[in-house]
Amino acid sequence: MRTKIVAGNWKMNNDLNASITLISDIKKELSGKNSNVKIIVCPPFTSLESVSTVLKGTEISLAAQNMYFEDSGAFTGEISSSMLKSVGCEFVILGHSERRTIFQESNQVINKKIKTAVKNNLKPIFCIGETLEEREGGITFKVIEKQVTEGLEGLTEKDLEHLIAAYEPVWAIGTGRNATPEQAQEVHAFIRQLISKLYSSGFADNLVIQYGGSVKPENSKELMTQPDIDGALVGGACLKADSFVKIILSAQ
Ligand code: PEP
Repeated sequence: MRTKIVAGNWKMNNDLNASITLISDIKKELSGKNSNVKIIVCPPFTSLESVSTVLKGTEISLAAQNMYFEDSGAFTGEISSSMLKSVGCEFVILGHSERRTIFQESNQVINKKIKTAVKNNLKPIFCIGETLEEREGGITFKVIEKQVTEGLEGLTEKDLEHLIAAYEPVWAIGTGRNATPEQAQEVHAFIRQLISKLYSSGFADNLVIQYGGSVKPENSKELMTQPDIDGALVGGACLKADSFVKIILSAQ
């Protein structure tokens, strides 16, 4: 049985004070509620250390939203995996569509980042997904296959022991338009099959594949009860403690 994992990607929202308020509210909302769902929060870099302090003694894990693939050096403005580890990060989101489209990150760059994360014991949340044009052009599976094979090239099953995959159709991110449970399930099943071909069926069976794209309390349960959907990567709806916690509770 795969554990359901719900992650909240705060993106470029919340300064330090707002971050502390949000994480404290999430803790309050969760108190007294039993959940067997793994929870991850992904604040901006500037709030990671303070959020980590608030999370001490809880089961909630911390993730960064990005990192650079070099370990250190003259890379102005970049953040390394050891820096993230030093402020309490266990996970890192890599290959988010906003990084791919706005910051031109290629599958090759994402592959280097995954390799560096794995080498330094940071667990990657590896995002993949097609644009609307690609979906309408009938090439969704082709795009996903390329993102997965190039993104994971040279990585072994052992390297990817703690990998989380996140299927995030770009046309559903921040648009209020989620994939239907059937559309999402179809791609999740395809990803699992592909991973089974690239690695092994045992590895594919255990891989957590989250869905992301306009997940909200109103649609989360239906999405997460699909057989191959193992949780959610939430953007907009994670910025309010009550809606984030409703999504978490709907995953049980
Ligand atoms: C995301 O950015 O990963 C995301 C899924 O955003 P939203 O939930 O706002 O669509």
